[in-house]
Amino acid sequence: MAAAERKIQAPLANPETKAFWDGASRGALLVKRCRSCGQAHYYPRALCPLCFSDATEWQAAGGSGTIYSYSVMRRAEIPYAIAYVTLDEGVTMLTNIVDCDLDTLRIGQRVRVVFKPTDGGPPVPMFTPA
Ligand SMILES: [Zn+2]
Repeated sequence: MAAAERKIQAPLANPETKAFWDGASRGALLVKRCRSCGQAHYYPRALCPLCFSDATEWQAAGGSGTIYSYSVMRRAEIPYAIAYVTLDEGVTMLTNIVDCDLDTLRIGQRVRVVFKPTDGGPPVPMFTPA
């Protein structure tokens, strides 16, 4: 486990993602689901990327998923892992895996969301082994 926490840059919210970051501030991981085609998508957008409907709504995700792919950045001052995590809701997020021994990560591993503070912005969702 890393002795020091890596400094995380504050995310930039825009009108399409403001609700997502407001949710993160409350500890909720939100994804958008389309009422027209029924599919969830990420990142949040006003129009469904699958069918272009504007009938999308926010949904609280359960916060659990599996590692689809990952890469450990060992040459950084504080090593870290970036990963694609597929949520149980079916969407895949580009994120970080944190609070664990980076040598034990594997594809297909179950993870759950944790929110990490940023430098002056809302917390960002990252994942840790479940
Ligand atoms: Zn759709």
